[in-house]
Amino acid sequence: AAKEKGRNAFEFFSRQLKQKAQDRIFLEEGLRQALSQQELSLHYQPQVSLESGEVVGVEALARWFHAERGNIGPDRFIPVAEQSGLIRELGAWVLRTACLQCIKWHRLGHRITIGVNVSIIQLADPSFPTLVAKTLAEAGLDPAYLELELTESCLMGNTTDSAAVLKELKSLGVKIAIDDFGTGYSSLSYLKDFAVDRLKIDRSFVREITSRSDAAAIIKAIIAIGHSLGLRVIAEGIETAHEEEVLVRHRCDDAQGYFYAKPMPAAEVERFLTERSATAAIDTSGIVFPQ
Ligand code: C2E
Ligand code: MG
Ligand code: MG
Ligand code: MG
Repeated sequence: AAKEKGRNAFEFFSRQLKQKAQDRIFLEEGLRQALSQQELSLHYQPQVSLESGEVVGVEALARWFHAERGNIGPDRFIPVAEQSGLIRELGAWVLRTACLQCIKWHRLGHRITIGVNVSIIQLADPSFPTLVAKTLAEAGLDPAYLELELTESCLMGNTTDSAAVLKELKSLGVKIAIDDFGTGYSSLSYLKDFAVDRLKIDRSFVREITSRSDAAAIIKAIIAIGHSLGLRVIAEGIETAHEEEVLVRHRCDDAQGYFYAKPMPAAEVERFLTERSATAAIDTSGIVFPQ
């Protein structure tokens, strides 16, 4: 019986492995096609200043609509893109599309930043800074309005290549943000080694801000670290007014989350920007922020 059980377990796992491999192949082929047939698009999620209420930037997030399977999330296809090397092409497309979109908003009078997620694979590529410089020049976008979002693992991977690439990127004048801050390696040494501009507090801390005092304490500490290093701090994943309240109390600079807006197509962002800048102008008049 034990043998029988062992064989069943083996068959179960090998079936699972096969399924996983097939899934990956399906996604990889699909992604290759999606890149050439323009099945990919970008959504943009507003980032709001907690002081003025104004939209100060947006983050570009990749979307894939598959003709038969519907939406496939980036959490599924980005890892496949990374493993297959397609991330280089995908990343270049995201960067270009995002910069071109941002300059359109600037021309309409909305001087917002554009956040672009960068994979560790892209950062390890010595030609990446050249790509960024070329893309900015082509779009006519001031580098100061491009914010590259890296995760902690990008900076911890001892690779000297990444360090050189990062230095070059900084010298172009682009901004660097640390995404999902607090969830990666616990070493903070890279904060002094690399000139980063902004910390993005991970959603997992914000989600527990009201239910767990330790989550609130961590958020408070991250904001303190950021500010003492002269960095701006943004919190991700704000869904309620109460979460916002706590962040305002701890002097977090900016916020991003469903509470303000979900990621949306460019045309909807434009409407949002227009409405929001009108109301922000009214809201802040006469309001004195306590010191
Ligand atoms: P991320 O960069 O940390 O992006 C934030 C994620 O949180 C997005 O998920 C966003 O839709 C979601 N989010 C924002 N506000 C809320 C909220 O209030 N509640 C909840 N529950 N979720 C919220 P999304 O778009 O599914 O992206 C997932 C991840 O995929 C991103 O995490 C990023 O790591 C990666 N990704 C997306 N687009 C790209 C890309 O163009 N390039 C690379 N390399 N990675 C990307
Ligand atoms: Mg991000
Ligand atoms: Mg994040
Ligand atoms: Mg993430």
